[in-house]
Amino acid sequence: MKDSYGRNINYLRISVTDRCNLRCIYCMPEEGIKSLSHDDILRFEDTLKIVKAATTLGINKIRYTGGEPLVMKNIDKLIYETSKLPGIDDISITTNGVLLSDMAEDLKKAGLNRVNISLDTLDSDKYKRITRIGSLDKVMVSIDKCLTLGIKPVKINTVLMRGINDTEFVDFLNFIREVPVEIRFIELMPIGEGIKMYEKSKLSFMELLELHPELTQIKTPKSSTAELYKLEGAKGKIGFISPVSCKFCLDCNKIRLTSTGTIKPCLHSKEEINLREYLNNEEMLTASIKSAIFNKPAEHHLQEESASRSIKGMSQIGG
Ligand code: SAM
Ligand code: SF4
Repeated sequence: MKDSYGRNINYLRISVTDRCNLRCIYCMPEEGIKSLSHDDILRFEDTLKIVKAATTLGINKIRYTGGEPLVMKNIDKLIYETSKLPGIDDISITTNGVLLSDMAEDLKKAGLNRVNISLDTLDSDKYKRITRIGSLDKVMVSIDKCLTLGIKPVKINTVLMRGINDTEFVDFLNFIREVPVEIRFIELMPIGEGIKMYEKSKLSFMELLELHPELTQIKTPKSSTAELYKLEGAKGKIGFISPVSCKFCLDCNKIRLTSTGTIKPCLHSKEEINLREYLNNEEMLTASIKSAIFNKPAEHHLQEESASRSIKGMSQIGG
């Protein structure tokens, strides 16, 4: 359905858990995180009820995210049940990739169409510093596995940060020479832990493009938030996603469902609509989602304000 600004909203991103097996420096604090209790997190039957109601309003694309979606028990079952709902055309996940290699085959069989794997560095030591826990090898095996299984496209999400991983830009370009993935460089956003490091680590992609004339822009599908570029002879391609400096709110087609059962019509707004009380009332559930879509804010205010207005961080909302 269309929101009050005429945007067609057809995409629902769902954070299935706030838990994560990593602690990326720009996303979660190292310690002191209070995980939600199981009762606070939507049961997967309830998530399905919400997805089903959303499909009646024209939602046809679902992305499961987290926290880390693959730490959620039965994620394959959730994907399978989602794929059976009339009106669903596309199911994807965003994952850190640590657990993916062992699960990819089952997830594909369950109905997963696409995957985004988050990876900010190709250097093992730096991977450990950025994620505080993870092991790069596991993610690399997962990327390989997805390509072998023919999951298409495999996209890599890379938050590029000044003084942390920006010097690896050329290494990433070399990576796509051989590996047929789309690396999407994402601007650091001042949300959650990202607020603390934003001023020091933010980076404009214009600088990089000026330094790399070998990159040529290619036509970007209307549905893509990334500006796409190719590198002559490379098997993969790259994209730049600039939610802060080049905001794409005018074309935003999504709403988000948090793991506690609230709809966030805009990632950076503090507004949340609680759907929990309507889980057993299909009519009210649909009406609440409809109202959330219709009242989606026009835009975020990250260019004028120093931090996101969202009360929740990315690990609670998903990305
Ligand atoms: N755990 C999964 C993962 O890392 O892919 C899914 C959830 S994670 C919150 C989704 C995406 O949000 C990741 O690609 C991560 O890099 C991105 N993200 C988290 N905090 C961010 C921030 N402050 N600025 C930009 N991207 C951020
Ligand atoms: Fe976990 Fe993803 Fe956040 Fe990293 S970015 S801490 S993997 S939720």
